[in-house]
Formats: sequence, structure tokens, C-alpha cells
Amino acid sequence: MKQCLNCGKQLQDSTTKCFFCGADADQLPQPQQNGLAGIWKKNRDMVILVLILIFLVIGFLVKNILK
Ligand SMILES: [Zn+2]
Repeated sequence: MKQCLNCGKQLQDSTTKCFFCGADADQLPQPQQNGLAGIWKKNRDMVILVLILIFLVIGFLVKNILK
């Protein structure tokens, strides 16, 4: 016997597709890291850092232009 990696139900060893949830029994469930939310979560620190740098540069430029 083996277990479905997606829902944890008991399956026959020969089963490749889970009867209960329909997922591939031999594959771990794919984390929902696709799309904007996933990218944002992954790169949030980087995005914030880049935004701060951009604001600093703009502030520096404005300061110099208005002098
Ligand atoms: Zn399953």
C-alpha cells in the first residue's frame, strides 16, 4: 500500500492517479506559488529595497535640480 501524497488516502501500489482527489498519487501537491502573489511573496524584500533606492535617487536628483 502507498499513500496519496496529496490527500493522504491509502492507495494500491499500482495506482498512479488518486481515486479520492484525482491528483497524481506519486507527485507532491504543487504549491500555489505562481502568479503575482507568489512573485510578490518571493521578492518582497527585494522590491521594497529597490523602491527605497529609487526614491533616494529621485530625492537626490530633485534636490540637485532645485538647487
Ligand atoms: Zn488523493
